[in-house]
Amino acid sequence: MAMNKDRLEYFKQYLTNQRDTLVSEAMKTVEDMSDEEETFPDPTDRASLESDRNFLLRIRDRERKLIVKINEALARIEDGTFGICEMCGEDISEERLKARPVTTLCIDCKTEEEEKEKIGS
Ligand SMILES: [Zn+2]
Repeated sequence: MAMNKDRLEYFKQYLTNQRDTLVSEAMKTVEDMSDEEETFPDPTDRASLESDRNFLLRIRDRERKLIVKINEALARIEDGTFGICEMCGEDISEERLKARPVTTLCIDCKTEEEEKEKIGS
C-alpha cells in the first residue's frame, strides 16, 4: 500500500534536514582540521593531532554512511518504495519509520535478521 502524499512529504523534509545538518557538521570538522594543522607545526603536537585526526575521520566515516542511507531513503521516496519492507514487501509501521526513517526492514524482518547475526557470531 502506498503511503499518502503528506506523510511522504513529512519524511522527505525530515530526511533532507537531517542530511543538511550532517553535511554542515562534516564540513565544519574538515575546517577545524585544517585550522589545527596551521596552528600546531611542532612535531610533538603534530603527533597528537594525528591521533585526533583518526578519531575525526572515524566520525566522518559514520556520518558519510548515514548520509548515503539518507540519500537512499530519499530515492525510495521518489520511486515510491519508501516505507515498504525490502524483505517481505509489507508496510513498515509508521512508528518505526519515525524512529528510524532510513530503515529498509519492517520490525519482524529486522528482528529475524538480528537473530541470524547472533547465531552467526
Ligand atoms: Zn518485513
